[in-house]
Amino acid sequence: MKRTLSLVILLTAIVAVQAAVPKIVAHRGHHRAEGSAQNSIRSLVKADSIGADACEFDVWISADDVLYVNHNADVDGVIIETADSKTLDNCRLANGEAVPRLDAFLDTARTLGIDLVLEIKPHKDRARENVAVPMAIKMVADKGLADRTSYITFSRNAFDILVRESGRPVLYLNGVSPKVLQEIGGTGADYHINVFRKNPEWIEELHRRGCPVNIWTVDSEADIQWCIDHGADFITTNEPELAQRLVEKAYAPRKLKVMSYNLRFGERASMQRIADEINAQKPDFVALQEVDINSMRELAKANNGINFINELARLTGMFGYFGRTINFSVPGGYYGIGILSKHPAVSVESIDLPNPKAVEPRIMLKGRFLLDGHMPFVFASTHFDFKDPETIALQAEYIVPKLEAEGVPAIVAGDLNSAPGSKAIDFLAEKGALLSGSAPTFPAEEPRVRIDHIFGFPKASFILDSTSEGPSSKYAASDHLPVISNIIVDYTK
Ligand code: MG
Repeated sequence: MKRTLSLVILLTAIVAVQAAVPKIVAHRGHHRAEGSAQNSIRSLVKADSIGADACEFDVWISADDVLYVNHNADVDGVIIETADSKTLDNCRLANGEAVPRLDAFLDTARTLGIDLVLEIKPHKDRARENVAVPMAIKMVADKGLADRTSYITFSRNAFDILVRESGRPVLYLNGVSPKVLQEIGGTGADYHINVFRKNPEWIEELHRRGCPVNIWTVDSEADIQWCIDHGADFITTNEPELAQRLVEKAYAPRKLKVMSYNLRFGERASMQRIADEINAQKPDFVALQEVDINSMRELAKANNGINFINELARLTGMFGYFGRTINFSVPGGYYGIGILSKHPAVSVESIDLPNPKAVEPRIMLKGRFLLDGHMPFVFASTHFDFKDPETIALQAEYIVPKLEAEGVPAIVAGDLNSAPGSKAIDFLAEKGALLSGSAPTFPAEEPRVRIDHIFGFPKASFILDSTSEGPSSKYAASDHLPVISNIIVDYTK
């Protein structure tokens, strides 16, 4: 049998992989908390107390080689890099605290669990950075904080020393391209949001290069949401509590209702009747098998010439996607599988499944969707071979890495022509989460065997809340019962 060509529909959209929950970095500490001030020890303690992931702070060196934590080059007009420690120790922050020495700041950090983002400020006299940077690295290490500290800077000079000597992540603050960043030894990008708004594709490119993305200084709800939607690894903000709330909301567990339904190419029911069954469930996604498009089957006269997917999409108000497996040369039309989705697709791809014995061609139709308009999710429909157990097992093994490679929660549903205890089902249940039951689904009038299943990958991201099968009846709309599962997706796993 000739190899079928893949139908590939690619819709253009750039959505970064969102595997990990973004971390919140309190910019200059949690300085908007009561009694706090920028770069104060209290701001560090406050950032830790609200559970911020990291505290960012700025470091200068005095004329007599003492490291201080402060944002500006001066404190009340006293220039840090030209003043001595005697003068600086008498300077006060807005909350009445002394301007902290780095030594004291780190001593407090040792008692807390929060990570540290240490910024070396660009000194007017760049040679002073040559003293400040090694001193800061050593002090951090001596206090046992190296593992919790990463470094950032605008100064190329300080950056080079940090890359050479810290052995820790060094993120550059100047918005150079991902390629240049890696060439100069940066391990990540810590750029202003406008840089990423102008070059959103950099986020994906940085991730491909293994570089984390930190975005600053993001204070408005819209900007923080933009960072979440675009897959930032770190969000640096003066509003850490707002950012925490938005991240928590974005990554809250989601409830999805998923169906799998083999339609028996419309032999037993009209599209209206099948749509009514689907509408009664209000599912998020439906995996469909045995789908005809404009075909003229003798056995399904009432549905001749109908594009099942377009018709079901119209009758359910869902988005419809089709993947072809067979051409009907005479009198035309196609046969294959489909997906109905409440959520818009970013891309849909038809993947040929292994078919070493040249039996009936099979595919997995895999779509990438956005839940709530921004959270990526993968849903796939498939229909395995029905005769050869070896082919079926190969097909099961083939789809798992395709789904895992998506880097986001992925569900595959369909008629797998395999019962619980078979090699294919055991394999899928071992690798992923079984999201459907074991009651028989075929034949509909008197079900004897379970062959329709739903699986989720990775396993830890899914909880099966409840599952059921359509009622068996000799008047059923298909020879398979539909499978319906209520599923909880945990984006933090
Ligand atoms: Mg800073």
